[in-house]
Amino acid sequence: MTRLSNDWRRTHYTKDANESVTGKEVTVMGWIHEIRDLGGIVFVLIRDKKGILQLTAPTKETEPQLLEDIRKLRKESVIGLKGTVQESGKAPNGVEIIPTEIKIFSLANQPLPMDPTDKVKAEIDTRLDSRFLDLRRSSVSSIFKIKSKMLHTFRTFFESNDFLEINTPKLVASATEGGTELFPITYFEKEAFLGQSPQLYKQMMMSAGFDKVYEIAQIFRAEEHDTLRHLNEAISIDMEASFMDDVDVMKILNDLVQKVIINVKQNCKEELKTLEVDLETPEGHFEIVKYDDAVDMINSKDVPMEWGEDLSRAAEKALGDMMNGYYFLTEWPTEIKPFYAMPNEENPINSHAFDLMYKDLEISSGAMRVHQHDLLREKIAEKGLNPDAFGGYLKAFEYGMPPHAGWGLGADRFNMTLTGLENIRETVLFPRDRRRLTP
Ligand code: ATP
Ligand code: MG
Repeated sequence: MTRLSNDWRRTHYTKDANESVTGKEVTVMGWIHEIRDLGGIVFVLIRDKKGILQLTAPTKETEPQLLEDIRKLRKESVIGLKGTVQESGKAPNGVEIIPTEIKIFSLANQPLPMDPTDKVKAEIDTRLDSRFLDLRRSSVSSIFKIKSKMLHTFRTFFESNDFLEINTPKLVASATEGGTELFPITYFEKEAFLGQSPQLYKQMMMSAGFDKVYEIAQIFRAEEHDTLRHLNEAISIDMEASFMDDVDVMKILNDLVQKVIINVKQNCKEELKTLEVDLETPEGHFEIVKYDDAVDMINSKDVPMEWGEDLSRAAEKALGDMMNGYYFLTEWPTEIKPFYAMPNEENPINSHAFDLMYKDLEISSGAMRVHQHDLLREKIAEKGLNPDAFGGYLKAFEYGMPPHAGWGLGADRFNMTLTGLENIRETVLFPRDRRRLTP
């Protein structure tokens, strides 16, 4: 197999080796998508991240050594090709390449563990076992191009609105916010855990005077459930801002969701087409459903739900059926939201916590936070947690803490709504769930 020498550099992606360069010599690099040897002529389709190009080698006019090399090729091998672009009505993108030289960088073993050409459908487990091959399919790589555009939109928005990007620790001591199972790890002679969210740290940055912060990073949840919307490692997009309340940060979230959809529609046309998704841009303010009303709506569909309960899966589905697209669920009971959610002043059994939903899927949770030290200490104790274990966090509330609010949004879940996918595993390169830790 050949190494990459200096005289072999890509001059064109397959998509750009088109009619505009007819008659010119090009160098393309890619994977063997298909080989058809008709005896008198050999056709080879070469694929790269931008498309597919046809190599055409008429056996009589092709130099014997070159022809022999072409006939050696196997599906999914990686080659470099130098050749002349020639118009051709029958070829996939209107041109074909008459080869002058090829370089075989890597021959692929046969048979392949799965077919990466979209022709044969494979089960999700087979696909994930050979994810590198699965990702060669445009219907799969499209998901990640959309995700990249989505993340880029968040970053651009935050940066242009004076937010500071922060990186908080993912190795944490035992004090946690509760509400979810954590992964224990060995930290030298101590036990530690993988972080479930940057919540406590991003709040401490408010005391630090950073004013507006964001973080895009992994969160780890040791939840045992095996659902289509939970993973044990997910990406959370978190923001926190001082001198803002829940309504202010809901507005930011509303704007951001719209911006992402507009950008994805504008910049990922091909990808959306491949995925057969027709994205609608939600206009104006998302609808607001108060928790109290949601309980009534859910009960009206004969799904039993008591006031003060979290939404069961059946309740989420019932509500999702009644709602169009994105909506906020607000004024949650204080009791079922984390200790850092600010209770309502007049009616403390309700809180300033909200969720952003897309139909029956929770995308984000946020709140105005408790910034008063004594109240926060009390609320930690009320949840049955030990306030002393929160020393490092609580201290930040004793020496000047501005009122603040923020949210955390599941990037993978949001990506599901942009790509129309039902299974969160599809939107993560190498998903981690109850049964999967490799590859
Ligand atoms: P759920 O009730 O759906 O399990 P949650 O309320 O426990 O979610 P939060 O702690 O509010 O989740 O986390 C904020 C956001 O992070 C969620 O709205 C969701 O989008 C995402 N998220 C949380 N847990 C997971 C997970 N296990 N897998 C994927 N995304 C998650
Ligand atoms: Mg939540």
